[in-house]
Amino acid sequence: MATVETVTGRIDADKLGTTLIHEHLIYRDEAVTTWWPHLGSVVPVDPPRACGPEELHGVAVESARAALERGVKTICEPTGMFGGRDVGFSRRVSEETGLQVVPCTGIYTYDYLPMFFVTRDADAMADLFVHDIEQSIQGTGIKAAFLKCAADEPGVTENIEKVHRAVARASVRTGTPIMAHSRPASDTGPRQIEIFEQEGVDLSRVQIAHTGDTDDLNYIERLLDKGVYIGMDRYGLELFLPIEKRNATVTALLERGYADRMFLSQDYCATLDWYSVEVEKQLLAAGAAKGWSMTLVFDEVIPALREAGMTDDQLEAMMVENPKRWLGR
Ligand SMILES: [Zn+2]
Repeated sequence: MATVETVTGRIDADKLGTTLIHEHLIYRDEAVTTWWPHLGSVVPVDPPRACGPEELHGVAVESARAALERGVKTICEPTGMFGGRDVGFSRRVSEETGLQVVPCTGIYTYDYLPMFFVTRDADAMADLFVHDIEQSIQGTGIKAAFLKCAADEPGVTENIEKVHRAVARASVRTGTPIMAHSRPASDTGPRQIEIFEQEGVDLSRVQIAHTGDTDDLNYIERLLDKGVYIGMDRYGLELFLPIEKRNATVTALLERGYADRMFLSQDYCATLDWYSVEVEKQLLAAGAAKGWSMTLVFDEVIPALREAGMTDDQLEAMMVENPKRWLGR
């Protein structure tokens, strides 16, 4: 029986149920919050507001409960290094609400690496990822269930390649799945897959996140031809692609038989410190996000996809079966 590590322990993959593959309970810079722990964060929508450090938990619980009310049983929490991954925080939210939370290890950077890693090779980095997978994360007893890396506008630089190779080697050593943040507008996906392939990763364990930020079916099918999963996972972030185009893309891919390769999610952050409240308000006024939340997929996306012909089996594949197959090991 395949199992999956969660912040409250290992469970049978069958117990994952309806799963949002990419949602953040907290997202804030690690250095800033270590230096100035009095800082809280920002609730990014409805309407944007400042949130003190003592409120972070309550806001995350609210998002978790909203998702649970829509039938969600599990979220993957893909916060990596520099995003303030906090598995103890996730565990408290999980224990209070009953939402299952699947944690990761890995580095979220577009290029920067600490000198510690600049002077060490990919194998040394992989050893630390394997530590989080086999031993535990920061002595909590919680183990990582998947690996995270990222490539964005700068492309696959030397540092980014090192992170990808390290993630790949940790995956080969342990059988752990990989979630790779991508940027279709910079054509990162093919190169990311190429590195995984060179390292001998089982590509059926790889998810290219944020592929849903493009409606270029040729680009998407080039990825799918390699056997990876794709994240249609930023619903509500209109600045990358509006909801109607996201839905049209998913519908076209369903028609082409790819239900067993897609995930639907929102990449929502219950709190996010990237922007001040003022800037966040300006971004919303400019239409950067619409309906962004941990429930948009259920409130607007699924009804629209059904209207466009999505079947119950296809929905079950994307929300239950694919997460089970990608995560289970
Ligand atoms: Zn994310």
